[in-house]
Amino acid sequence: MSDIKRVYLFGGKSADGNGSMKNLLGGKGANLAEMCTLGIPVPAGFTITTDTCAEYYKNKMQFPAELKAEVDAALAKTETIMNMKFGDKENPLLLSCRSGARSSMPGMMETVLNIGLCSDTIPGLIKKTANPRFVYDAYRRLIMMYSDVVMEKAEGIEPEEGKGIRVQLDKMLHNVKTKKGYKSDTDLSSEDLIKICEDFKVKVKEVLGKSFPDNAYEQLLGGIGAVFKSWNGKRAISYRRIENIPDEWGTAVTVQAMVFGNMGDNSATGVAFSRNPATGEGKFYGEWLINAQGEDVVAGIRTPNPLNESTKNDHNRHLASLEIAMPVVYKELDNIQKNLEKHFHDMQDIEFTIQDGKLWMLQCRVGKRTGMAALNMAMDMLGERLIDEKTAVMRVAPVQLDELLHPILDTKSEKVATVVAKGLPAGPGGSVGQIVFTAEAAVEWAAAGKKVILVREETNPEDVEGMRAADGLLTARGGMTSHAALVARGWGKCCIVGCDTLHINLHTKTLTINDKSYKEGDVFSLNGSKGFVYDQAISTMDASENPRFVEYMTIVDKYRVLGVRANADTPQDAQNAINFGAEGIGLFRIEHMFYGTNSEQPLSKLRKMILSNTEEERKNALAELEPYMKEAVKGTMKVMNGKPVTFRLLDPPLHEFVPQTHEKQQELANELNISVENVKKRGESLHEVNPMMGHRGVRLGITYPEVSETQYKAIFEATAELIKEGYEPQPEIMIPVTVSVKELDNQKVICDKVHADVEKRFGVKISYLYGTMIEIPRAAILADEMATTAQFFSFGTNDLTQMTFGFSRDDVGAFMGDYISKKILTADPFQTLDQSSVGKLVEMGIRGGRNTNSKLKIGICGEHGGDPESIEFCHKLGMNYVSCSPFRVPIARLAAAQAAIKEYK
Ligand code: PEP
Ligand code: MG
Repeated sequence: MSDIKRVYLFGGKSADGNGSMKNLLGGKGANLAEMCTLGIPVPAGFTITTDTCAEYYKNKMQFPAELKAEVDAALAKTETIMNMKFGDKENPLLLSCRSGARSSMPGMMETVLNIGLCSDTIPGLIKKTANPRFVYDAYRRLIMMYSDVVMEKAEGIEPEEGKGIRVQLDKMLHNVKTKKGYKSDTDLSSEDLIKICEDFKVKVKEVLGKSFPDNAYEQLLGGIGAVFKSWNGKRAISYRRIENIPDEWGTAVTVQAMVFGNMGDNSATGVAFSRNPATGEGKFYGEWLINAQGEDVVAGIRTPNPLNESTKNDHNRHLASLEIAMPVVYKELDNIQKNLEKHFHDMQDIEFTIQDGKLWMLQCRVGKRTGMAALNMAMDMLGERLIDEKTAVMRVAPVQLDELLHPILDTKSEKVATVVAKGLPAGPGGSVGQIVFTAEAAVEWAAAGKKVILVREETNPEDVEGMRAADGLLTARGGMTSHAALVARGWGKCCIVGCDTLHINLHTKTLTINDKSYKEGDVFSLNGSKGFVYDQAISTMDASENPRFVEYMTIVDKYRVLGVRANADTPQDAQNAINFGAEGIGLFRIEHMFYGTNSEQPLSKLRKMILSNTEEERKNALAELEPYMKEAVKGTMKVMNGKPVTFRLLDPPLHEFVPQTHEKQQELANELNISVENVKKRGESLHEVNPMMGHRGVRLGITYPEVSETQYKAIFEATAELIKEGYEPQPEIMIPVTVSVKELDNQKVICDKVHADVEKRFGVKISYLYGTMIEIPRAAILADEMATTAQFFSFGTNDLTQMTFGFSRDDVGAFMGDYISKKILTADPFQTLDQSSVGKLVEMGIRGGRNTNSKLKIGICGEHGGDPESIEFCHKLGMNYVSCSPFRVPIARLAAAQAAIKEYK
């Protein structure tokens, strides 16, 4: 016998494990153990470790030899605690077998309930419960789950759509109900169920070629193996990819004594949250079903009842709450949830079952929540002194802020529109998009750049990729706690569930609501905060002016060390950046004045300059361009008054600005009074084989000093004018794509000359910084030299990544997907900084630069400046600031604060 412990017992008021052992016992197993030690009523059982799952995979999907003995020993103890015996003829214990990864993957893996029902145990259980209906209902559920999970999925059988065993059995059940005129599963009599079970077993044999096992122990081993295998099921893999959960973790398996919510009208089952997971409201919130098993609530087969009176909504107001129906049990449950929240200092997502009036807790875990809920809960819990400020800062994931800043439906436009259907508001915010009816279509349409709303009959975790791709989700069935609602909330998707007036026909790809028919591609709008559905496009508005958000960000900033700036090049973007809390502009790309609105005039001057034949012609064209440039520069510095603005000199190769179409070339020829052939010829002469490594950036200034001179002039004159107008401009001049300090020196001479001239002409003193981008490996390697002239560095990690990998940043789309799916790279290095390579160059650059000048100001302005993981890295390296697009500024502020807090921990 090896000394590895693979099985951890829990039950009574004690447990082998505890809540801190999530890596080994999975979230579920660890928390069940913790609840036991807190004295909370939990059915006894045992957890097989995640390490055993890894062993199982290593072992070509065979259980380790020692596992059986450990399971037997734990099973015997479980039997003693529960005072029942597994497989016993008189007093049979039934078991559940559930998955549990380190971090929760709701609905993505498999569960088998009611294990242990077979011809040996059924008569005894009937005798004991005097309830044959209940026993056969449990048995038909076991056959359905077991044949689907253990006999089909775990065997790798992939039936065609609609041909899976579960669907076939479901149809049989449905047919019986229709034939007999039953509305609900609870109308089925014990005789009906006995017949159904027999028919089910025949069907299983016919479809899968094997008999449903009539032995309790065989069922148990089958269940354990199937849960292990479900770690590598399709939807679990998809979910792991999206959530960045490593494949190596594996799942634990928790085997637990069954308790029954379907034993009659004194039994029930439910799912609840200690606070509202969609809004964060501090009310105990949940759903329950009388005479049902847990799967009925989460699978969304029946629309569940509300837990209490104060959280009823329009949709479920007519249904009885647990608070009224079973007041004593409700009180006990309410006390437990309060204790759990106090114990874990966070919102809990709990599952419970009431068996014949006795409450049992089946699960507790930290609940998934929307960005809005995360923010509200963090602030409320801080106010309640349940958590401290640092914890509050850590409680909102930076990407969740994105969601908070996402649009909601415009209230005015919504008021004049007609609600065509109402459902449960499962994921707040607004969504406007084209409706599609399958996950595949959602993925396809989204890939083609369309915004889609995925409309489904019921919430089904198989749809995970489609849910991810869709902008909004709408389902006909299901409750607020159904798996899809949970997952959607975790991703911040606008989501409405349980909208029972929807009728979807997958064959004709149509949707009917109250006799009105819609087809795939029709535009719908969803208000996920109210559960309202509209069959038209409604305009959206920004949700950022939330005072709670502003207050939260003030706390966040207390812990932040890194500065946060924005990449912006217009006064409007600059104003946005300030509104989002930017402390400066880290990248003003001068060339952006030649794109977009109002660019016609300056662009024509630039083109004139590019097509000049002589230096004189070029200088004249530049003189015409300079006032436009000054205006662009001045407008932004004015908005940023008192805050630094880093102007990056003209970067792209000039041929990018030469018109390509004949029509445009003709226009330019007319304007410049030259022939169109001439325009073409000069355009062709600028052609480069490899323009990204061609005549661009500082190289233009080296060849044409007057091009740099004009830019310096525009910047310094704008500064001088602003100073005279009483503003406090803080310009920083940044030279792009440098490889040598000599380039910097060469340009500095021009810069100094213009600076002195402008100071003299305007009679003002102009302070500024002169620095460089570090975006070519050579510059990073020779950073100590670069810092002898540069007063600051800004890492241009877009180009630095391009140059380090030798991957064209504009063409990676063609192969990056393959690199990720084949696990050559774990992430796109243009989104998340590759710390092992580009990161080393950044580190080397910082070290070199600060060796020369210990006070050297250092930032990053590549796209990575808005990526939380990369921001943490920048913090660790001691950068002064990150710079990102204005909308990412709050994300960067939070990520920077979290990086600082993590460091102190
Ligand atoms: C960079 O290369 O990282 C950068 C910010 O400059 P650009 O994206 O304009 O090349
Ligand atoms: Mg660049």
